Amino acid sequence: MTELKDELTGLHNRRSFLSLLRRHIGFANDRQSLLALVVIDIDGFAQINSSSGYAFGDRVLQHLAAQIEAVTRAQDYAARIGDNRFAVILPRILNHGHAELAVQKLFRLLEIPIESEGTKLSLPVTAGVALCPAHATHAEYLLRMAELALATARMEGRRYLFAPDVPQTNALSVLWDLELELAGAIDRGEMSMYYQPQVRVSDLQLIGAEALMRWDSRARGEVSPDVFIPLAERTGQIKKLTIWALNTALRQAGEWRQAGEPLSVSVNLPGEMASQRDLPDLVENALQLWGKDQVRLMLEITERSLMDRERAQEILGRIRDSGVRISIDDFGTGYSCLAYFKNIPADELKIDQSFVAAMLTDTASADITTLIIELAHRFDLAVVAEGVEDPATYALLKSGGCDIAQGFLFGKAMASSEFEGWIVGYPRAVANIKTNASVEV
Ligand code: C2E
Ligand code: CA
Ligand code: CA
Repeated sequence: MTELKDELTGLHNRRSFLSLLRRHIGFANDRQSLLALVVIDIDGFAQINSSSGYAFGDRVLQHLAAQIEAVTRAQDYAARIGDNRFAVILPRILNHGHAELAVQKLFRLLEIPIESEGTKLSLPVTAGVALCPAHATHAEYLLRMAELALATARMEGRRYLFAPDVPQTNALSVLWDLELELAGAIDRGEMSMYYQPQVRVSDLQLIGAEALMRWDSRARGEVSPDVFIPLAERTGQIKKLTIWALNTALRQAGEWRQAGEPLSVSVNLPGEMASQRDLPDLVENALQLWGKDQVRLMLEITERSLMDRERAQEILGRIRDSGVRISIDDFGTGYSCLAYFKNIPADELKIDQSFVAAMLTDTASADITTLIIELAHRFDLAVVAEGVEDPATYALLKSGGCDIAQGFLFGKAMASSEFEGWIVGYPRAVANIKTNASVEV
């Protein structure tokens, strides 16, 4: 079937690649064997295109595709999964070293330069490798692990990197049990949503809350979201949890009361869901069910979810058309560049806590924060600072023109009923925060 192949290179296209990957992960599971996924990127491909022309760019892609095919065995699959991004599935490898050999062989072949009108060019490429089941057992997540390894390799100036080591066998079996327990957690009523207030920086008015998931496991007590969210992503359970979170947050936020503007509620969206076609319907259904008038919905996505940029842009665009706003979470921790701000499908940027926390002690962090704020404003994005813990940081953010703040200074995440009480008491707390902030500037 032609639509499963990439026209330019004849390799599998992204869609066909993902379904092959899913299938082979299934086989690997049945056979209890090991599978490796290698993702390869041409460095500075945009420059090659602009300096030597698109026709040459196409030749480069075809050349790389041919080299990749030359190193693959009969049972392997090569695909072009992005403009200048390729992937190879290596099913049935015996060990980690086996995947490393394949990557090294490819790099050796790429040292043979490609010729064009007298100029010779050896292709600079970077690769990332992830192993199944060691790093992930879910196709999208395995791909993400390999892509992250690639991004890290590029940042550290290495030619390739494996995804970081995961816990050893003993801990793996604990994770395995946790995975099973997580699967039943919603039905057992162990999941709940907590809400952390967000306030307007200029006058400390409450404007809404971020919804954060909590798991109080009957068997193990409270499990941190930093443990169970990645686990849910790795094992394909995150979608179900997200739909539950979205509906719960809209239902509970509908019960909050404050005079004036309706409050907003921000729900975290895992990376892979930002480019799923059924997302706009899922969101619309939840809004229909719980009503649009009482609450303003915001979805928080991370920079990484914009990796499949075009697709995410289209899907997030549809969601924004229906009045839902998009916020870019943990901003500054990814690989953002200036170009990132152009046509960004978002309304808000959340500056990562690590910058906010360091503002008082590290001038570079304070400078970065102020720059992000200025730049974001120029692109009509509101800016949220998270992790605001003390009045001095709040004062600094205020002078830097930050729009919204969230952090322990105002309130921690709390159950919905507790938050309703907090809303009532908050106006009295405001005077205190104001005095402390002006004392500390
Ligand atoms: P996040 O989205 O960056 O959420 C902010 C985290 O910072 C929360 O941790 C919050 O409790 C914490 N925090 C807020 N203010 C302060 C502060 O002033 N100081 C410090 N030190 N920390 C503060 P939490 O609730 O443990 O969540 C951790 C991460 O788990 C979240 O990071 C998010 O990535 C993920 N997560 C939580 N709930 C959900 C969810 O419903 N869906 C998805 N997909 N991910 C979630
Ligand atoms: Ca968040
Ligand atoms: Ca965050």
